[in-house]
Amino acid sequence: MEIVKTAKEVRDCVKEWKKQGLSIGFVPTMGYLHEGHGSLIKEAGALCHKVVVSIFVNPMQFGENEDFGSYPRDLERDAAFCREMGADLIFAPDAEEMYTEGFCSYVDMEGLTRELCGKSRPGHFRGVCTVVCKLFNIVTPDKAFFGQKDGQQLAVIRRMTVDLNLDIEIVGCPIVREPDGLAKSSRNTYLSREERKAALALSRTIEFGRELVRRGITDPKELTFAMKKNIEKEPLANIDYVEAVLMDTIEKTDRIKENVLVAMAVYVGKTRLIDNFIVGKADLPGDWQEENREC
Ligand code: AMP
Repeated sequence: MEIVKTAKEVRDCVKEWKKQGLSIGFVPTMGYLHEGHGSLIKEAGALCHKVVVSIFVNPMQFGENEDFGSYPRDLERDAAFCREMGADLIFAPDAEEMYTEGFCSYVDMEGLTRELCGKSRPGHFRGVCTVVCKLFNIVTPDKAFFGQKDGQQLAVIRRMTVDLNLDIEIVGCPIVREPDGLAKSSRNTYLSREERKAALALSRTIEFGRELVRRGITDPKELTFAMKKNIEKEPLANIDYVEAVLMDTIEKTDRIKENVLVAMAVYVGKTRLIDNFIVGKADLPGDWQEENREC
């Protein structure tokens, strides 16, 4: 496994692989890797001949008062992890390589970025779309792998590949959790011991919400209200949002049904954590499915 820092080195390597008829899987990350990233790398390895992982803490997707400066970084540890997971190439550029002098072209998405994290983090998805589009152009993968952990991001990237005619299949992968339920995140390292316990309010509320859906709740307002009340029991938790939207368009929905994304962002102390679930057929009560067969 090689670690390279320039777009040219990635291109040369990928060109060589393509000449040999090999397919390329790509996993974009911000590093400080954990088993969530690991699951994407493994899935990429299962579906493609070669796996490229990018590690880049992208300044453009952080707001002014966010954690760009303190975001955890450890390339050596990440490299060992990628090797273990079976990656073939790490692309770890610095900001100057990605944003050369005079940079002024952006990918800006409208509709899907209005709600949820797009609302609380203005400019975030402009940064995400711009960097992912650039990375796609550098790596030219056949498939790219994204976690459902960032549910809105997954929908946004899918939309971007359609809108911009990018010939890349986007593969969504399930959320990987700690044994006690907390969704794995590089940001979990910010949590004190007390906050780490309090952070379970998120995953517990995800399970609670899913259970309410299974019991037949269909009104999104009722669902998100009950979930908020559940989070509020934890004094260290501060809700940014709890919303139910359609997964494909990130538009508000007036009914809980299949493929609704129920997503939350919650501050635990100063750390902003996200979690979600997507309503599947199996979550909907049988008679409800029956009633709505025609819809
Ligand atoms: P990040 O390094 O946080 O930007 O994440 C890089 C990729 O890993 C994104 O596609 C995330 O959705 C995915 N990811 C992060 N945490 C998890 C997790 N707990 N389970 C599955 N995928 C994850």
